[in-house]
Formats: sequence, C-alpha cells, structure tokens
Amino acid sequence: MLRTLWGLSLTVLGCAAQAAANFDGQSWWSTVKALADDKFEGRETGSTGERQAQGYIVEQLKALGIEPAGSDGYYQRVKLRTTEIQEGSSSLALVRNGHAQPLTLGEQAYFSTRYVLAPKVEAPLVFVGYGLQIPEQGYDDLAGLDLKGKVAVLLTGSPAEIPSALSAHYQSRAERWRVLKAAGAIGMISIPNPASMEMSWSRMALNRNLPSMDLVGPEFDETAGSQIAVTFNPAYAELLFEGTGYTFAEIAALGKDRKALPRSPLGLSISAVIHTTSHEVDSTNVVARIPGRDPKLKSEYVVLSAHIDHLGVGAPINGDRIYNGAMDNGSGSALLLDVARSLKQARAPIKRSVLFVWVTGEEKGLLGSKFFAAHPTVPPKSMIADINTDMFLPVIPLKALTVYGLAESDLGDRVAQIATDQGLRVQPDPAPLHNVFIRSDQYNFVRHGIPSVMIDVAATDEADMQTLKEWRANRYHAPSDDVNQPVNLATAAGYEEVIRALTITVADEPARPAWKQDSFFRRYAAAGPTGATAR
Ligand SMILES: [Zn+2]
Repeated sequence: MLRTLWGLSLTVLGCAAQAAANFDGQSWWSTVKALADDKFEGRETGSTGERQAQGYIVEQLKALGIEPAGSDGYYQRVKLRTTEIQEGSSSLALVRNGHAQPLTLGEQAYFSTRYVLAPKVEAPLVFVGYGLQIPEQGYDDLAGLDLKGKVAVLLTGSPAEIPSALSAHYQSRAERWRVLKAAGAIGMISIPNPASMEMSWSRMALNRNLPSMDLVGPEFDETAGSQIAVTFNPAYAELLFEGTGYTFAEIAALGKDRKALPRSPLGLSISAVIHTTSHEVDSTNVVARIPGRDPKLKSEYVVLSAHIDHLGVGAPINGDRIYNGAMDNGSGSALLLDVARSLKQARAPIKRSVLFVWVTGEEKGLLGSKFFAAHPTVPPKSMIADINTDMFLPVIPLKALTVYGLAESDLGDRVAQIATDQGLRVQPDPAPLHNVFIRSDQYNFVRHGIPSVMIDVAATDEADMQTLKEWRANRYHAPSDDVNQPVNLATAAGYEEVIRALTITVADEPARPAWKQDSFFRRYAAAGPTGATAR
C-alpha cells in the first residue's frame, strides 16, 4: 500500500511540475467554441449538425496522426429509433367513481416516450412511495401491494438509509421497470421530488414533444411490457391523493427529508389515449486510440469517454432556439481531444493503450455508451477503466473536485491521490438525490464491470456554490449554455492536468483498477450486466 502510494506520488509530482506545459485552456476553449457553434445546431443525436461536429473531431484526430479505432475508420454506427408523442390527438384523465377529470397535457402531466406506450390504457393507480426494491438493504416499497394490471405512482428519490450509489442504480430506467414489471404493473406515474428538482416544471415540460430515442436491438429493450409512463407536475399532485387520508404536501415533506412514505391504492384510475409516431435514425460514436508501448500491457485500454451530442434545436428561451451545449458537453469533448493531443506529443511512452470515445445519444438516455459498452470495438475484457467527462463546469476557480464513484473502486483512490498532489480537495457526490452517478456515460461501463469515475469541478465556498447553482438553474439544458458565457480557462487547464495525470497513472501502473470489496457494482465484474445484453 505504502509503496504503491509513494510510487504514485513521484509519478504525479513529475506531471505537476510540468503542469503549465501541458494545457493552457486556450486550445480547450477554441474546440468548445467550434463544437458549440450555431452552425452545428446543437448537435442533436443523428442530425446533420452532430455529424459535422463529429467530422470536426475526426479531422483534428487525423491531423494529429491519432489512429482510428472504430468499426468503420473512426466511426461506429449506432442504430436508433425515435418515438414522438402526438399530443394533439392524445389525452389523459383521472377517473374517480366513474367520473373522468381530464388533465391538461404539459401543464399537469406529460407522457414519457422513453417507455413503451400503448394506444389506449385504463388502469387503477397505486402509490408505491419511492417505488424501490433494494434486496441488499432488505428494503421493499412494493411489499404487500397488489400491482397486477395497475399503474404505479411514485415520488422520485430514496430514503436516507440507502447509500447514494445504490439509490442511483435502482432508480435507473432498466432497474426501475424490471421490479415494477415483475410485480405486475403495466405502467408508472412519476412525480418529481420537489426537493431535488433541478429545473422548474415549465422548463421540464418545454421539450416534452421532441422525439425520444432508443437503441434498435432486442438486447436493448428495457421497457417491454410497459403501456404507459407519465411525469406528473408536483404542483397538481394533490389530485392524486384526494380521499386517501394523506396529502401530497405531507408526502413531499417526508420526501424532502428522505423519510419513509405511506403506500396504498389511490382509489382512482388513469385513462389515456396515446398517439405516437416512430422512425429509424442512424448516428455514430467516434473512436480513436493511442497505442501503449509495453509489449504486454498495450493490449489493455484506459477508456476516456465524453458525449458529443446535445439537444439540438428546441423551444425558444429568450428568442434563442439553438441549444448549443457548450459545457454540456462541448467541454468534455474538447478535453478528450486536448488529452489525446498531449499524450500523442508526450515524450514519455505510456504502457497501456488509451481509447478515446466520443459517444452519441447521451441526452437521449446514454445510448451511444450503452451501445459501445455492449459492442465495443476492442475486446470487452481489455477495457480496464473508464474516465468519463460530462459538463465538468470550469466556471469557478479550481480548488476541489467532486468524484462520482469515489468510494466504489481504487480508481477513486488514484483520483484522490492525484488531486491531493495538485493541491485540490476531493469530495464524493454532494447531492445524491440528483442521481448523477447513473446519469452519464460512465454508468454503462460500470454495468459491464469496468471501474469508472466521473469528475466535476466542485465549489468550496458560498460564492462558488451560488455560481454553480445559478448555472444549473439558468444555463443547464437551455440555449444559453453557449459560447457567450463566462468560463475560467485556468480551471479548465487544471482539470485537464488531473485527467491527463490520472490517465497516465492508470495506463502505467502494473495493477488494473479494481472494485472495492464492499462496492455494490463489483458484482458486474463477475456476472456481467443485468438484462439480456449481448457482447
Ligand atoms: Zn445534458
């Protein structure tokens, strides 16, 4: 242990000493500006703009002499199917004692096209609390409830005693639907927990009618058996609880403190008419490689991933329709290119190979990474770690880092060591209710047994916390996440040093990163992912 850490420190000190030589923030920012240009129209998955942005990355890689590692040059084809709700000819109502009360779509509730939707549904509602079943904690919100043929109503979030990684895992779409389906449910109504809503209801509902996407292929069908999925505005949620003996206000208060929730049939039904249209779309991942120099270790890969897609063109906010996605995730895509350039030009040879994967479809549900992790362009067992970067937010001075997955594998220990050597503090997920661990591409590598981390810039004082909070409230998934926002180039450069040092450390250390003995996610390393996922 001591020897490893000592060796690590020396390596990292070497990197830190030449920190200024590797990155200046300028090259990062110029790539972000290129990717977030209006001409790429927000890089919507499968769009011309996304293809052009990918072409820009590929041109840079070619110019640098970095090898292609896709299945077709730098590219890997990803087949997708869109589903679009036709709200004008769809309807939703609550039915109590035979009396139907129509709901206003968009204002009171909206359909989620990320689940399979049937043309016509009428079914009783049952409140299932958080709707979680967590065997390793002996926790079961569905126990004693009859859900056969019914629609489960749930509040997002989890009770305080559930560790954040577990809570995040079991709230993923696949796990969520697996347990509800097993209990006999035919659909769900999800009420966002007001205590953890990142954006207002009006912002959430704004782009509800844009097409959703899913991967084509039976191995990716996670919501078979579902007939209806609805997101319900918490401001109207009292409607669901009338006559139950408890109010939504009480439930929300319990949810805020992550306390146990009541569970019971709600004494009313949902009635829906649903019209959707669907078509197939092609997109691609972009994959490149820098080969290692060690005769044996070079067949193993450290994966650096970042999604290149964003939301495209949507409803206007302040007259702007283009969702440029400068930070989300032009920032991570630019970082991958910078790190690739720096490693390519480095004199010190790295032992293992490094794989750079610009994935598509993250905003549509982590689709490109899901496809890549299931059908990698290198042997599956050769990927020893994934370091993912998504919207790391260099908008405040760099003093600390949030490491998602910090305690799950010794990859987290390596991040902590490198951060310490560079004078930075590290913290685990400060807001577990936001489920960030399952909300970006590292999660698909985790599900295939690969130790992974994602790292964000963290705030250490009130002012910086406020800056990040305002960024999330005003720019996150809004057209103003564009190149006319203030960024801190020194922070971007410092963050790139951390990712570079981490990549080199993981590539060079004799031992592959390993899951911690007590990590829940360790099971995937042995058993493979849940669900029928083809390799
Ligand atoms: Zn996003």
